[in-house]
This record gives sequence, structure tokens and C-alpha cells, in this order.
Amino acid sequence: MTVATHSKLLSFAEARQMVERHAATLAPTEPELTGLLDAVGLVLAEDLRADRDFPPFPRAIRDGYAVRAADVQSVPMKLHCVGTIKAGATVEESSVAVGYGEAVEIMTGAPVPAGADAVMMVEYTDSANATVTAKRAVKAGENVVPAGAEAHRDDVMVKRGTRVSHAVVAVAAAVGRPEIDVYRRPTVAVLATGDELVDINLPPGPNEIRNSNSYSLAAQVNAAGGEPVILPVARDDAADLALLLRKGLDADLLLLSGGVSMGKFDLVEEALASLGAEFFFTSVAIQPGKPVVFGEVALNGKPTPFFGLPGNPVSTMVTFQLFVRPVLDALAGAKPDSLPFTQAVLKAPLTTKTGLTRFLPGKLDGAQDKPGVELVRWQGSGDLMAAAKANCYIVVPPDREQFEAGETITVLLS
Ligand code: AMP
Ligand code: MG
Repeated sequence: MTVATHSKLLSFAEARQMVERHAATLAPTEPELTGLLDAVGLVLAEDLRADRDFPPFPRAIRDGYAVRAADVQSVPMKLHCVGTIKAGATVEESSVAVGYGEAVEIMTGAPVPAGADAVMMVEYTDSANATVTAKRAVKAGENVVPAGAEAHRDDVMVKRGTRVSHAVVAVAAAVGRPEIDVYRRPTVAVLATGDELVDINLPPGPNEIRNSNSYSLAAQVNAAGGEPVILPVARDDAADLALLLRKGLDADLLLLSGGVSMGKFDLVEEALASLGAEFFFTSVAIQPGKPVVFGEVALNGKPTPFFGLPGNPVSTMVTFQLFVRPVLDALAGAKPDSLPFTQAVLKAPLTTKTGLTRFLPGKLDGAQDKPGVELVRWQGSGDLMAAAKANCYIVVPPDREQFEAGETITVLLS
């Protein structure tokens, strides 16, 4: 182990800034025309533009009567009903004009006819035969969205670099795009290390455990729009590691788990260093996850970022969210999102030691007015069950030992 690689301890904020700065230098993968639903979770490589005005016609947004607002200033006011327009009415059906003292019955989503400049809600009217009585004054423009009010033809409706959500899918569908240009999923090699690990479809020996990290990481990669490539488990052996590292460095990003602590068989940094790795940090003052490593290796001239994540399953999960995510976002073509911090009221007192920023598994309740949070009881950073119960991390700053019940505390949504 070279001393130099073990000297880069950063605070949480410094490490996060380091990752964000590096992420900003990374080029995204190349664009690919992709089926709309397959593009969900990926990042737009083109601006989505309006193919027509939105809305394309002045749209009624309530069921009621299209009127001239000037006619309905004093109430009650009787108007003569001269027709009905439904959503999807033909041009002919919608071509009635509203004249002085007239109204046209109209449905939500229908085009407001010529002459009318407002829709009065059906709730504020009485109707009998062809006469409708307005019971409330109407303002010009009420309940009508003018043609082009949301977007004009050729306007950018969603910008390149936006992650495709169901709402972006809605825009793409509305502008008639069954396929859209998105950046290819970055490939992410997932390499677990450890002599104690067996794959999940093999029976573990008495001192062995199943490799869960490769799967939790692959799930996190998937959710972030990456393409996980799970490599065989590397033994705690320099030659085996070197071989698999080379494979892993073919990917756009390499994630290792385990082998980054101070143990005699923690060989990951050494193996990376022997390939000429540059290390940006080799530990961060956090718990869980302190030994996390971030760097870059250039094999065959192609620099590939890598993370050595600590092997304890909860550490692996937290450090992915805290540090890997911005790099993966950048490779996927998105500006890194800031971390989803929020505040909640502690339901029970909490005591920790100072010195490290802690991310402790927590359960946030859904109270709308005053969300509360409590620790999930855990046996430390190997406790998979605690992680599976948690829906957030309680963030304890490095300079506080004691929090009382009822205090507001920072929470990181997971
Ligand atoms: P390490 O970071 O290699 O020192 O591992 C720390 C702890 O995490 C040890 O108890 C390991 O057995 C456990 N661990 C390491 N890798 C994995 C993995 N892929 N899946 C589940 N547990 C792991
Ligand atoms: Mg290990």
C-alpha cells in the first residue's frame, strides 16, 4: 500500500464538491433514438419542440357556457343558447359564433367558438330550454386557455439534458414522438471483492456469505439510468483483482465493493495504483462509508472513473448515493442533481460521537404538516435488514453529540 493513496481524507462537503467538479468535466455517452417508454429514466439528447401551438385552439377548461364576458357583467342575466360544442367537435360543429346576448354550451377540452371570450362554469348557471341564466359575473378570459398560451409551434418544451420522467413522456407523446433521442445508458462495471463471497445461486459454506452488493449496486445503477455489468467476484488476490479490473475498465464507470479498508487483504487501492490510477480521495469523514475511494485510470488512453466502495452493504448503498450518483448522472447526460435533503422532527433522542458526518438509516413518516423521523434500529453498516426498512438517512453533523426528541434534523431521502 502506497502511503500517498492513504492520505486523502476529505470532509463530506469537500468530497461531494470534488465529485461534482469532476462530473462536470465528463462527456456524456452518444445519443440513440429510443422508443418512448424505453427512454424513461434516461436523459434527453435533443430539445423536445412543439409541433403546433399548445393548446392548438382556445381551450375551454371547464364545462359550462362560452359567452362574451361583456354581456355578463350584471346578474342574473338571461342569454340565448345557440349550440353545443364538445371536445373533439368537428370544425363544422365548432363553427357557431357567439353574438350579443348569446351563449354556446361547451365541454372541457372543446374549442371556444368565435365571438366568445370566456366560459362560465355550469355550476353558476340555470338553464331551461334554450335560455341560460348567468348567476355570477364573468371576466374576460375566464376558463379559457388561449391558443399557443403554453407553447408556440417550434418552441422548446423540454430541454436537452432533462431526465425522461412520465411527465416528459407526456410532452413527447403530445408532440407526436414515438421515439426520442436520449443518451445511451452508460455501462457500469460492478466488481465485488472478497474471499468470503459466493454468488447468489450457489450454496455458501459455513464461513461464506452471499454477494449482495453486486445486486444492490446493479439495482441502484439501473434506477439511475446506467447499464450494470456484473463481473465475477474478485478474490482478495492481486493477480485476480488486476485481471478483473482490466475488464471493468472497459465500462464507462467502474464500481468496486470491498477491499478498501485497512485490512491486510484490502488490496483494491494497490491494484488500482499498479494500473496507474490517479486518486482524488481515499477516505471521507463519514459513517458509514469512511474508506470510500474515488479516482480515474487511463488504460489504452481512455480515462475511466472508478469508485472503491466499502464492502459493508449499508456503506456501499450510502456511498453510491452520496458520490457515485453525480458521476453517473454526468455520463448519462444530465446535470448532477443536488442531494435530496429535507428536514424532519426527531421522534426520539439520538446520541452519536463527534468527528464524522453520519448517515443513519431512518424512517420518515408521511405527515404533511410536520414530518417526523426516527432511527431504524441497526447492528451497524452490515445490517441489510435495517437498510431495507429505512426510507431515508438521518444526517448527523460532525460537531453534535446529542439531539433531543422534538428537534429538527436533516434527512436525506433515499
Ligand atoms: P470489506 O470492505 O471488504 O472490508 O468488507 C466489509 C464487510 O462487508 C465484510 O463483513 C464483508 O464480508 C462484507 N461484504 C463485502 N463485500 C460484500 C458483498 N459483495 N456482499 C455482501 N457483503 C459484503
Ligand atoms: Mg473484503
